[in-house]
Amino acid sequence: MKLSQILFVTLRENPAEAEIPSHKLLLRAGYIRRIGSGIYAYLPLMWRVLTKVSQIVREEMNATGAQECLLPQLQPSELWKDSGRWDTYTKAEGIMFSLIDRQERELGLGPTHEEVITTIAKDTIRSYRQLPLHLYQIQSKFRDEIRPRFGLMRGREFIMKDGYSFHATEESLKATYQEMDTTYRKILERCGLSFRAVEADSGAIGGSGSQEFMVLADAGEDEILYTEDGKYAANVEKAISLVADAEHSPFDGYEKRETPGTETIEKVTNFFECSSTVIVKNVIYQAIYDSGIMVLVLVSIRGDLDVNEVKLQNELVKLADGFSGNTVLDLSVPDENAQQKWASKALPLGYIAPDLGDDYLKSSANISPKFVRIADPTVVDLKNFVTGANESGFHVVGANWGVNFPLPELVVDVRKAKAGDSSIHDASQLLQSARGIEIGHIFQLGTKYSQKMGATYTNEAGEEMPLVMGCYGVGVSRLAQAAVEQHFDKDGIVWPVAIAPYHAIVIIPNVTAADQVEAASKIYQGLNEAGVETLLDDRDERAGVKFKDADLIGIPYRIVTGRSLKAGKVEIVERATKISQEISLDDVVSTIKKWVMEKL
Ligand code: ATP
Ligand code: MG
Repeated sequence: MKLSQILFVTLRENPAEAEIPSHKLLLRAGYIRRIGSGIYAYLPLMWRVLTKVSQIVREEMNATGAQECLLPQLQPSELWKDSGRWDTYTKAEGIMFSLIDRQERELGLGPTHEEVITTIAKDTIRSYRQLPLHLYQIQSKFRDEIRPRFGLMRGREFIMKDGYSFHATEESLKATYQEMDTTYRKILERCGLSFRAVEADSGAIGGSGSQEFMVLADAGEDEILYTEDGKYAANVEKAISLVADAEHSPFDGYEKRETPGTETIEKVTNFFECSSTVIVKNVIYQAIYDSGIMVLVLVSIRGDLDVNEVKLQNELVKLADGFSGNTVLDLSVPDENAQQKWASKALPLGYIAPDLGDDYLKSSANISPKFVRIADPTVVDLKNFVTGANESGFHVVGANWGVNFPLPELVVDVRKAKAGDSSIHDASQLLQSARGIEIGHIFQLGTKYSQKMGATYTNEAGEEMPLVMGCYGVGVSRLAQAAVEQHFDKDGIVWPVAIAPYHAIVIIPNVTAADQVEAASKIYQGLNEAGVETLLDDRDERAGVKFKDADLIGIPYRIVTGRSLKAGKVEIVERATKISQEISLDDVVSTIKKWVMEKL
């Protein structure tokens, strides 16, 4: 392609709307245009990148025997009602755009395709002989993200590869899951990304696990905890760790003490000159179930530790039955406004004890009359601990479970693991923290959807069984931007060769010099004929402008037909290293071709 003939607009200034390098660069270099909040146009250069990423995904998926298809984005609400997700997806998480057509039918725009694919499986899979089966597609997804940001990283319309596998047995599912693990690694390697596979939260769905593929970058929205020996890596939402031992409590008799102005753990430790590990901290959470019932939760955890809200939410979902619901729609630490909705009197905030009375809860049809009391395992063995006295300005010291406070019935791990903790596999390995961008997620679904939607097959014994399912997603458009986030310098994008929109760019420094034009045209043609995708900068612009643009758009190899032409040579510059060399005209095509092919 000749730059003089294509849509090619670069910006000098950083666009105000962009916060992270990759977003700025993609806008400045003319790859994307913002059309609305979380809505982007992929301009021709970007589309080439996305096509390449998709092709790599496709090749690796096909190599496993998975079959590509294309599913509808417009999805009848009935399917989502069958799976029980319509309300959660349109109201609660509110992630699905929904609409009503002219016949008054309800439809949603696909944020994901479990419902559609399970319906297809239900209609087409009869026998174990048809299993396993793996279908995938690459297409735009729609999600009404509450905070779309960072360009393609979190869009409201974005491209995803989503695949769904069907099995007769858990073992078969595990085999495909393992194969997808390998496949995702290959995809990311081929795209030139450095990444980490981490254990991920599977939500309330349960199942035997899920794994995320994180591209490491400071701008990542996820925190990963990992060990140097490579044996442990998990999303902080899921991570576990060994907890340091509590110190010995300096108190040996139970006593209520006046502790004015000590509403934080830090102030309590300063007041008593004790370790925060001898304190039981009690935190109130407010959970709203899909049944409309609000439940107040009192979590007791060691003073030096924090609650992992994802773990807490998963535990609360398990209790949903008891509140006539299926799931928790919202979990938060209630602010003053929220407290007023359910608290019958002023709460002793900062001085709460594990036995805070249920009489603090207003009596109302949609407020559960009792606190759900949860103890993290870290408080169970504490002796002579310090905690609130349920009275502002007072704490108790020397308290013991079973003597001064009943131990909450529900003891579950809701602790947030953090950097510096010892790893469970080896206490000498300390958890390290890194930021990551979630590019892919593979998931063992089990029979959650097949059971709800009645998707069954007949096994060898002639019995009707629910299909065992797995699902596997790659954020194609997010991946493309993540590649930029990992590969850029002060001058612009540095595309990995495999997903660069073009491999090479030939620059004519002076378009009025006939010899330059002629040599450049010949190289341009030769490279394209040799399968090296090449641009020709034949614009009537200053050479400096052209060099800047080539750097900005990040084309891996730049060929300049400049001064050295007199000696029968051209200059070749590698974008990533900025290393420049002169190569004789006759060798240009073969040299560049060799470099490119090595990297594909
Ligand atoms: P996140 O936690 O980032 O919201 P998710 O867990 O909701 O993502 P999945 O449902 O697992 O995402 O979707 C599969 C993949 O699709 C993700 O791993 C991610 O790469 C990509 N993806 C998800 N949401 C978006 C989005 N809003 N914009 C771009 N890519 C996305
Ligand atoms: Mg995910």
